[in-house]
Amino acid sequence: LADFPYYRILVLGLAKSGTAAARALLQHGKQVRINDKSAKPEDRLIKELEDLGAEVFYGDHPLEALNNMEIVVKNPGISYDHPIVREAISKNIPVITEVELAYYLTESPIIGITGSNGKTTTTTLITKMIESSGIPVKVAGNIGIVATDVALSIDEDTTMVLELSSFQLQGTEKFRPNIAVLLNIYEAHLDYHKTFENYTAAKCNIFKNQTEEDYVVFNADDPIIMNEISHAKGRLVPFSVKNMTEDGAYISSGKIYFRGEEIIHVDDVVLVGNHNLENILAAVAAAKLRGAENEAIRNVLATFSGVKHRLQYVETIEGRKFYNDSKATNILATQKALASFTQPVILLAGGLDRGNEFTDLIPYLKNVKGMVLFGQTKGKLQQIAEQVHIPYILAENVEQAAEQAFHMSVEGDVILLSPACASWDQYRTFEERGDMFIQAVHRLM
Ligand code: ADP
Repeated sequence: LADFPYYRILVLGLAKSGTAAARALLQHGKQVRINDKSAKPEDRLIKELEDLGAEVFYGDHPLEALNNMEIVVKNPGISYDHPIVREAISKNIPVITEVELAYYLTESPIIGITGSNGKTTTTTLITKMIESSGIPVKVAGNIGIVATDVALSIDEDTTMVLELSSFQLQGTEKFRPNIAVLLNIYEAHLDYHKTFENYTAAKCNIFKNQTEEDYVVFNADDPIIMNEISHAKGRLVPFSVKNMTEDGAYISSGKIYFRGEEIIHVDDVVLVGNHNLENILAAVAAAKLRGAENEAIRNVLATFSGVKHRLQYVETIEGRKFYNDSKATNILATQKALASFTQPVILLAGGLDRGNEFTDLIPYLKNVKGMVLFGQTKGKLQQIAEQVHIPYILAENVEQAAEQAFHMSVEGDVILLSPACASWDQYRTFEERGDMFIQAVHRLM
């Protein structure tokens, strides 16, 4: 932390990242004050941090917690609208997130990935491509692994691949990834960022401190990114699923290329969906810039079946391909899943009834030759099936639905769990629902 110019630091909100930040700062001899609204003096964690030398301020973020502090390390979950955050900003006390701290804690090369969608998939792909090339690498950030912990534990030869949310990026000052990856910017999280301009600005923080030594990999098909990218100072590496971006990653005659080098035929890629092609191009570009080998990249793309529960390829049984998209808890996600296939699909859908209708699914049902419906919404979905004359079966649950779908299918079909509903009517989580599906598929083998 030699270059971190602050000594008295308020850690606002503990959770995993705040706790890691506090520990790292204490370890580096900083004066740390902690304020977490649900902390109690008898908590084990609080005692431990006190023993390490932290001062603990109790209560719901009282403004006095800011007294004498030089900087605030804020949990991304705490809103910029919170009075204490506003007060800090009005007093010109910088408000950062733990990602900024991680940046100061390591000399390692950093690849940062952000976007409204596709972050986890792209982050995972990049990590695997680098790893398979024999280059030391660790993944961290929004993917669920605290960046400071990783920053503290790796040596400077290990590349850190960081998934970054807009919440994390809004709290950066000097953070400078060697390779920044900007996937897409859609209207999202406007409750937090207030305006689309703020949200865009937060995402673009990923490249604001870069210099001409760095790279920025960006989606050349995204009009909002194209608008912003002229401000980038790093070397521009575009990717596009539409045009041949010769200085970056692109698709030509069904093959994926990076700067004129053929990487893999699209047909040999396990991941499906046009959106995943974008993630793949971004990952190929970033991994190549970090020195990954074509052979390793090919192996990853020919085997990686997707992040679990997100249009994840499960298995092929007697010519039927099974996909688990249990994360699709709304209609939009199921639309995207259905748009990913050209083969005949048997759709498994249904779940918690939130009072909405499913008519918006109809334009996406062209390839759907059968439906197996379950959960609270099966009646509503049945009406849709009847309306567009798609044969359907009603099932008790996902497990039974997988079996029914298999009986309904022929060789060459895709059997897709993409429920368009939350899982809580029958399962604790969408993960549990997806796991039940996977188990049922394996029982069919
Ligand atoms: P994130 O980490 O940004 O939430 P994931 O990689 O976990 O993204 O993907 C979540 C969902 O977002 C996927 O199931 C898919 O529906 C959608 N998605 C993924 N990548 C893209 C993309 N490049 N463009 C649009 N939507 C995408």
